[in-house]
Amino acid sequence: MNPVNYNFIGIDLGGTNIVSLLVNKKGEIISKDKRKTLAKDGKEKTINQLVNSAKSIIKEGEKRGIDFESILGLGIGAPGPLNIRKGIVCSAPNLPDWRNVHLTKILRDKLKLPVFLENDANAAALGEWWKGAGKNVKNLVLLTLGTGIGGGIIINNEVFHGSYDAAGEIGHMIIHEGGLPCSCGKRGCFEAYASATGVVKRTITAIKEGGESILLDWISGNLEKINCKLVYQAAKEKDKLSQWIAEETARYLGIGIANIVNILNPEMIILSGGMSQAGDLLLKPVRKYAKRYALEPAIKRVKIVRGSLKDAGAIGAVVTVLKRKKLGV
Ligand SMILES: [Zn+2]
Repeated sequence: MNPVNYNFIGIDLGGTNIVSLLVNKKGEIISKDKRKTLAKDGKEKTINQLVNSAKSIIKEGEKRGIDFESILGLGIGAPGPLNIRKGIVCSAPNLPDWRNVHLTKILRDKLKLPVFLENDANAAALGEWWKGAGKNVKNLVLLTLGTGIGGGIIINNEVFHGSYDAAGEIGHMIIHEGGLPCSCGKRGCFEAYASATGVVKRTITAIKEGGESILLDWISGNLEKINCKLVYQAAKEKDKLSQWIAEETARYLGIGIANIVNILNPEMIILSGGMSQAGDLLLKPVRKYAKRYALEPAIKRVKIVRGSLKDAGAIGAVVTVLKRKKLGV
């Protein structure tokens, strides 16, 4: 069979949504399914969602002339920590009852396909590397700016997993000893300051300390309604407090990126996740601060850009299959 006719499934398992793609070897999307994870309804429900989502794109593919036999494997990007070789999700903060779930075996039995597991941020990095902002880039680091900060490190066109699959936990790099508390139980982590959650928490604190903001009108005084998008929207409309928060956030991101750049000297840093939609309002000051804090030879040629793919995680899960089956990417 001509290898171009082979197809693959890539799934991004997030705490909120599951995205599944049926993709050909060139990376063209044949069919897509997106549905709620239903994490609160328990592990079994989420696994059913995964299986049904995969079945739905397989069925959609069949309508378009794609034989099941032409699908060589399924890759899935999941939140960690993971045991990648064994295919086990050890635990996941956004999937509360997941403990040592042998995900690849469960999916393989239900779908009759080879299944490969990858960390979700690593998968997003692979997706951008293959078909997005990181095309033709050998060394890059991707940061997903959302509830936390995920990190995916690609060195010499391969994901760097570390010795025990725990590399790339960039969100828990300490940037302020004894600083703000983090979801990991420690203090002063990068993500406690520079994630979307960090932005919201720092904004609420600033308002509680007496700061005036247009946000208070937008949310009718209910601080729980503040989200990262609103803060950047207010900054765009020249709200002083939000502008200050945006500047501080860029400074924290700049510090984190400077540390990464000094250690790895990549060609590119890709910012992805919901918060990256703030665009230049985020990128411009981040570039300024990264340059200020990093060593000149390390940062000089580094491009700091936004991710360009809508479904980088699911596309990257396909790359995982291609790489593990040694199909030439
Ligand atoms: Zn932490």
